[in-house]
Amino acid sequence: MKKSLLVATTNEKKYSEIRSLLQDLDLEIVSLRDLSPIQEVPESGVTFEKNAELKAVGYAQQTGLMTLAEDSGLCCDALEGAPGIYSARFSGEGKNDGDNNQKLLRLLEKVPDNCRGAYFKCVATLAQSGKILASFDGEVHGVIAKEPRGKNGFGYDPLFIYPPYGKTFGEIPQDMKFKVSHRTRALEKVGVYLATLFNP
Ligand code: IMP
Repeated sequence: MKKSLLVATTNEKKYSEIRSLLQDLDLEIVSLRDLSPIQEVPESGVTFEKNAELKAVGYAQQTGLMTLAEDSGLCCDALEGAPGIYSARFSGEGKNDGDNNQKLLRLLEKVPDNCRGAYFKCVATLAQSGKILASFDGEVHGVIAKEPRGKNGFGYDPLFIYPPYGKTFGEIPQDMKFKVSHRTRALEKVGVYLATLFNP
């Protein structure tokens, strides 16, 4: 029988990214949406690492499944790392990606081109039976555009210029983003770990 892995997210776009990154593993992958109502584990930590750990351990305990949780966000040099762990709720609860992007553009309005550096970071943590198995991170570095460009991806993708492509993540197809993204870089390490765990 296939082993199950719970991917602890309700974000459909993230889930589909993570599923395709782990598709070569012989695992039955499920998301929180596939399970009966589960109590939400709050992201109450102050680092990506702590939030990923809280979610992985919390959902593994509730479901009895090996669980992969990730926390990710955008860190801007000129804003001392903000929005960071607050990326999803940067402009307040109930606001959307467009509101977050507009707030970021406002805060960076007077910031010169050479100070608009930023990076996406992802920390992915695996837990089972209430214990952390392993944790991996990935980053991708770029520059914040002066206005949104492109309709692909989600979150801050239309503002994030990846210099080797000369385009924002919003302007490129999903497979090009996958090759270099922070999530891919963290999840590739998760994939190697899981492959070794199941096929030592
Ligand atoms: P989380 O669901 O708490 O991990 O929030 C992550 C937030 O960071 C998302 O809602 C986005 O605002 C931002 N983010 C994380 N990864 C990406 C990405 O790949 N592209 C664009 N925005 C991202």
